[in-house]
Amino acid sequence: MLENLSAQPADKILALMATYKADPRTDKVDLGVGVYKDATGNTPVMRAVKEAERRIIADQTTKAYTGLAGDPEFSAVMKDLVLGDSVPNERVAAIATPGGTGAIRQALELIRLAAPKATVWLSNPTWPNHPSIIKYLGMKMAEYRYFDNDTRGVDFNGMIADLEKVAEGDVVLLHGCCHNPTGANLTYGQMEQVIGLMRKKGAVPFVDIAYQGFGDGLADDAKATRQIASSFENCLIAASCSKNFGIYRERTGILMAVTKDADQQALTQQNLSFLNRQNYSFPPDHGARVVTTILKDPALRAEWEAELEQTRNGMLALRQQLADELKRLTNSDRFDFLAHHRGMFSRLGTTPEVVEKLRADHGIYMVSDSRMNIAGLNAETVPVLARAIVAAGV
Ligand code: PMP
Repeated sequence: MLENLSAQPADKILALMATYKADPRTDKVDLGVGVYKDATGNTPVMRAVKEAERRIIADQTTKAYTGLAGDPEFSAVMKDLVLGDSVPNERVAAIATPGGTGAIRQALELIRLAAPKATVWLSNPTWPNHPSIIKYLGMKMAEYRYFDNDTRGVDFNGMIADLEKVAEGDVVLLHGCCHNPTGANLTYGQMEQVIGLMRKKGAVPFVDIAYQGFGDGLADDAKATRQIASSFENCLIAASCSKNFGIYRERTGILMAVTKDADQQALTQQNLSFLNRQNYSFPPDHGARVVTTILKDPALRAEWEAELEQTRNGMLALRQQLADELKRLTNSDRFDFLAHHRGMFSRLGTTPEVVEKLRADHGIYMVSDSRMNIAGLNAETVPVLARAIVAAGV
């Protein structure tokens, strides 16, 4: 049987991680994989997470199954964190999922059940796992322009022109904040225009929000998602807790479906629980319980928010330092986009050949599309990167 297998496409980010590990240079800089790192290169367990885990271990009396949709308290706190009061609770169906990826997978499976002929529209570029899963599920997809390689901002005219081609019932996938891989984001006004166009076309929005709290703060980063949730009868929201709670390996995420009314909510909830049952039955609970414990306890929540703010401000400071350093070295403001981008990533906007040169000559690792993980830098490596960028002729 197994002789019939053929090799699957390699994940280029994971392949880059392996090349980095094998590089003997001691001054190498890893700007590859999308994991937050502090100034010493560690991905710490957040203090509030440690405390929540301590409490869970002390107090937990059973590890019997939760519900198929996960713990309802987790859904409640996450709905509040992501959606605020943009939609009434009785219109939201939700399932806990293994990470944001699990939420995306379940969202796509729900779309396939409800609208098998719908095309899913993706930004060009987007997180590579989006097209990969869609292709694997045999669904239709199309791209809308998103990144302007000249300004390194959003190609808004291109985006609107492409979304004009969306058919009724198609699904448009949007990043809630901190666009991966570019770091370029829509303004509030631009999102209003996109919402207006999607409403006119009868499109269904699907928001992937994996970095809430990494851009402009918890509330500001949720603005676009809330704007969308309050503007449509139906929309899907896949949220990840991997980054903002630093619980990557615990696989914690949620899929929320905004429905028309309470009847549709009940039907959708039943379908979502069914999908969990088919794929893995009960979703993982530990990370979800950590998140619930933190969000429900005011003191713990305040501690988490403070640490997340520190993380966010650290990344903003690195962005500013890099933009300033490049301004000094090039005597121009053409790298100012680095300070305007938000989240963990920025797309430098250079060729794979230059990216390879940065790796070979300077030991600087970034994804071949020139996505850099800003959190992979520290105050000492920023000038090293800036000099390398200039030397490589970006
Ligand atoms: N969406 C985007 C845009 C991401 O960058 C990621 C993480 N790389 C995810 C979703 C999912 O993350 P996870 O499954 O680890 O929660």
